[in-house]
Amino acid sequence: MRLWSLVLAAAVAAFGSLPAAAAGVDKLYVLDCGDISAPDQSRWSPGVNVGVPIELSDNCYLIHHAQGWFLWDTGLPDALAAFPEGVKDAKTGFVNKRAKTLSSELAALGVKASDLKAMAISHTHPDHIGNVEEFPQVMLYVQKAEYDWPNANGTPRFKLGHPVTKLEGDHDVFGDGSVVIISTPGHTPGHQSLLVRLPKTGVVVLSGDAVHFKANWDNRRVPGGNFNKEQTLASMQRIADILAKEHGQLWINHDKPQTDAQKKPPEYYD
Ligand SMILES: [Zn+2]
Repeated sequence: MRLWSLVLAAAVAAFGSLPAAAAGVDKLYVLDCGDISAPDQSRWSPGVNVGVPIELSDNCYLIHHAQGWFLWDTGLPDALAAFPEGVKDAKTGFVNKRAKTLSSELAALGVKASDLKAMAISHTHPDHIGNVEEFPQVMLYVQKAEYDWPNANGTPRFKLGHPVTKLEGDHDVFGDGSVVIISTPGHTPGHQSLLVRLPKTGVVVLSGDAVHFKANWDNRRVPGGNFNKEQTLASMQRIADILAKEHGQLWINHDKPQTDAQKKPPEYYD
């Protein structure tokens, strides 16, 4: 009995607030939630590659847990799929495209909105929250700091009445350590990332926009438009520490070369 207590205490000490059990998660799908063509990548890397265009992926991630399905980020609005050439944003100059709708991708996997146990968004930029209201009944996990951050015109960022859990820090979604929301502020006030502990693949951290592409990760570059530079750097370091401790991989949402190399539905990571 005493030995078992010591073993347990050692395990708790080793894993801290991120439990090691991976009990319930068995599938992670990378969904195509859009493409963004941007005219100048130095928007994200101040002073570097000025005037050089960049193509960004925009992913959503669908996770199956024994307790139900969980959706991470919702991408660009499904309505964009009606415009095969994409739609140019007058303010940013980005051309935003969606090859297919999120709802059609879920349907192809046999998943209905009512099958979703919960969802979370990394942050409230339009390429991440485009389809939140396609799931009006589904519990949304968001940081309170993000929820309370008004739009530039003073309007709320979410439809009032959407079921929401406002977080103040990390959150273990299913209570077994297999899907853990990690607070990574800086890009926006309440930005968050997601740790997924898969039985075979191991630990994957879904970046959100804590970083936008690999060169920025390797060089710790902070986009000029981020809410807080110091917080961004601290969040990148936090992710790096988690990856080192867990021997995990970082999946960068907008890094197109990385996304292009990943399995796509019906294939998944387990
Ligand atoms: Zn963003």
